Amino acid sequence: MPEAGAVRMTQPVHPDVAIIGGGFAGCAAAHRLAARGVSCLVIEFKGFLGGRAMSYRLPNWPVPLDNGQHVLLGCCAAAMEFLRATGAGADINWHDRLFISNGNGAVESVKTWPLAAPFHLLPFLMNYPGIDLADKFRIAWGIGRMAMSRSGNAAWPETARRIGQTDRIRKMFWDPFLISALNAPPEGMGDAFVRRVIIDAFLRSRGGVRIGVPNLPLAAIFSERVRPALERGGAVFQTGKRVLRLSIRPDDFVIHIHDQSALTAKQIILATGPAAARAILEESTGLESMSGPIGEILGGSPIISIHLLYDRVLTDLSFCLVQNRTIQWIFNKGVIDGKQHLQAIISGADEWAGQSQMELVMIADEETRRALGAAGKLEHGVAFIEKNATFPPRPGIRRPKFNISPKPGLWLAGDYVDTGWPGTIESAVRSGFAAADACLAGVKGRGV
Ligand SMILES: Cc1cc2nc3c(=O)[nH]c(=O)nc-3n(C[C@H](O)[C@H](O)[C@H](O)COP(=O)(O)OP(=O)(O)OC[C@H]3O[C@@H](n4cnc5c(N)ncnc54)[C@H](O)[C@@H]3O)c2cc1C
Repeated sequence: MPEAGAVRMTQPVHPDVAIIGGGFAGCAAAHRLAARGVSCLVIEFKGFLGGRAMSYRLPNWPVPLDNGQHVLLGCCAAAMEFLRATGAGADINWHDRLFISNGNGAVESVKTWPLAAPFHLLPFLMNYPGIDLADKFRIAWGIGRMAMSRSGNAAWPETARRIGQTDRIRKMFWDPFLISALNAPPEGMGDAFVRRVIIDAFLRSRGGVRIGVPNLPLAAIFSERVRPALERGGAVFQTGKRVLRLSIRPDDFVIHIHDQSALTAKQIILATGPAAARAILEESTGLESMSGPIGEILGGSPIISIHLLYDRVLTDLSFCLVQNRTIQWIFNKGVIDGKQHLQAIISGADEWAGQSQMELVMIADEETRRALGAAGKLEHGVAFIEKNATFPPRPGIRRPKFNISPKPGLWLAGDYVDTGWPGTIESAVRSGFAAADACLAGVKGRGV
């Protein structure tokens, strides 16, 4: 490998900040830096931005297919700040009403009231299907207990039992929400993450539990909104470049790229996702110690997304939560020439990630038709299994801080960094903002 002094410098820019990784975290950092007039360069391995929030193009499908639905909640304030600022705010449809299928064709809906939190939750809970009144009071009690407890390191099922949440309450109420919010089976959830969801989604504000669903393919959000907005703001992008390692010099860093080229930058935000960040740091002399804390977070939790194209329209609902089935959500992706495109989601899908495409499509087809109580012939089906969708929200898991670097000017960003949030877009954007703010302080300190 070439040494720092002997590298071929192919890039004329010498940015104040180089951001390695063009997912939500890296792009959020670029947005904040560009908005403050700091020159930044985003180096991305793939040919496009978006990272884990991506779309596939398949020859027999007329539209791009998102690898997962990528839902936001009303409490995702940083994510919405970023999307609005990059012109993608209007690409999210917000829903106050949640439709819930019992898995056998009976669909009911719940909605919060325009009352101050937590009273807005009363009708939501009271009208929640499949749960009797006594259990609804137990849920309200459980929400209160969780909110008032201190964050612990216990597993959620243990805590749930302690605060009176029976197996049935968990199955009908908590599991559908928490499995998708935290992307893990209940036994793999730390109660600190559950507490965070309860406080931010249910209690902090009236709008926290609203559901935001993108109305554009994820690829288009990045290619048509985010990237042009960031470029207008002055950010520069290099895609198709894999960073191998970093070298430390007294006043800056050298970034070594797979094609033997290299770049320099005064500060670096490493926003690659945990496995790649660890690999880069392990190869970077003087920075190896940073890779240790990242190692603790490795081991992804899978999400399966199954796209189904029917010969007719099965539902006019935008989306619905499904109780008592393997699939947890169904999203309506629109009607193409009279054929309906639906997307079924299985989060926390460890148990299902080893199934074949065909088995997953068959399960999703059967359960979708049953959940909606509708007949229809499946014309096409495809399942995407994202094995490392998010880090597992295990009890007591320790996440690296964004500023663990032994060398000033190198910051971590990514959904896995310790933001208090589970592995979500919100966590990624928060971490990107935090790393950018740290860079800004560095830029100011040098009077650049
Ligand atoms: C199927 C699925 C469904 C999901 N659903 C939701 C949801 O409903 N709601 C929600 O909030 N979150 C959801 N998530 C999680 C969300 O996608 C992630 O939390 C978020 O996108 C992480 O962003 P990031 O920037 O931290 O990391 P990433 O998106 O992983 O970005 C890292 C980037 O770094 C690049 N990179 C890696 N190595 C290198 C290298 N050596 N050199 C240069 N570049 C490199 C990668 O190509 C990638 O683009 C879902 C994820 C998946 C996979």
